[in-house]
Amino acid sequence: MTLSPKIIPYFLSFLRLRLIALRSSLLSLRWYFITLRSWLFFLRSWLLSLQSWLLDLLYPKSCISCQKDGEILCASCFRKIQKMNVQECPVCRRRSRGGLVCHPFCKKFTSLDALIVSSLYQKNGILSKALHLFKYRFSEELGPILSSLLIDAFRANFSFSSTQFHWIIVPIPLHSHRLRWRGFNQSAILAKHVSSSLLLPFFPLLKRIRDGPSHALLSRKERMIAFDSVFEIDQSVLHNADASTLSMPSAPQCKHYSVLSKYVILVDDVATTLSTLNAASHALKSAGVEKVCGLVLGRGSFHSKKP
Ligand SMILES: [Zn+2]
Ligand SMILES: [Zn+2]
Repeated sequence: MTLSPKIIPYFLSFLRLRLIALRSSLLSLRWYFITLRSWLFFLRSWLLSLQSWLLDLLYPKSCISCQKDGEILCASCFRKIQKMNVQECPVCRRRSRGGLVCHPFCKKFTSLDALIVSSLYQKNGILSKALHLFKYRFSEELGPILSSLLIDAFRANFSFSSTQFHWIIVPIPLHSHRLRWRGFNQSAILAKHVSSSLLLPFFPLLKRIRDGPSHALLSRKERMIAFDSVFEIDQSVLHNADASTLSMPSAPQCKHYSVLSKYVILVDDVATTLSTLNAASHALKSAGVEKVCGLVLGRGSFHSKKP
C-alpha cells in the first residue's frame, strides 16, 4: 500500500499536532513534579519547625552557655562571643584593613579579594555551640542572632570604596544530597538575613557539584587539589534571574543586572581552612565576577603578626 501524495500534508500536520500534545503533556508532568517537590520541601521545613516547637514545649528553652531559662542564647552570653577587633589577610594572617588580601605574595594563594571574619571560633566556645545547634537541630531563632554578627562585622570592616550597592550576596551551597538530608542550608539562611538587612540582592549563584572531602584526612596540598571544581555557576538561577530569585526589596531593577560582572559577598558559617571559600571564589571569578569578598561568622585563632 502506498500513501497518496495528497494525504502526506495531512499526515504531517497530524504528526505535528501529536508532537505538540506530547510536548505539552511532558511540560505539565514537569510542572507537577516541580510543584510536588516544592510541596515536599515545604512539608519538610514545616515538620522541622513542628519538631523544634515540640522540643521547646517538652524541654523549655535554656541558654546554650549558662543554662539560664528563657532564651536559647542569653544577651550576656551573646556578648561574650569574642569579636575580631582586627581583620587579617586571610592567607598570611597579618593585620589588614577590611581583611583585604593586600600582599602580592598572598594573592597567589587565594582567589578571594578579602575575608571579613566576625568572631574568633573556638572549639566548644559559645559560637561553636550555637552553630552546632543551628546546623544540626535547626534552631530557627539562632538565624537572626548569628547573622547579626555578620552584619555588624560587615558594617565595621567593609572597605571597598563606594561600590557597596553593586554587590550581591551569594551563599556557599550544600551539595543537593546533603541539602535533602538536612532540609536547609545554614549559609543560605544567614545570607538571606544579611541581604535583607544590608538591602543587597540575595543570589544563590553557585551549585555544589561534588561534596568536599573530609578536611581532617587531607594535607594542605591535597585539600587544594580536592576542592578544585567543587562548585560551578548554577545556570538555572542565572537564566531565571527575576524578582522571585532575587529576594531583594528593589528586585525589579535587578532583572537587568549583569550578575556575572558584579561583585560578590560570599557568605559561609566558618572558614576552618580557606579551601571552600577559595574553590567557590575561583568558580565565580572563572565565570567573570570581578571581586569576591568572603564574610564568615568564625575562624580559628592565629596569633596576628605585626605588619
Ligand atoms: Zn547565657
Ligand atoms: Zn597576606
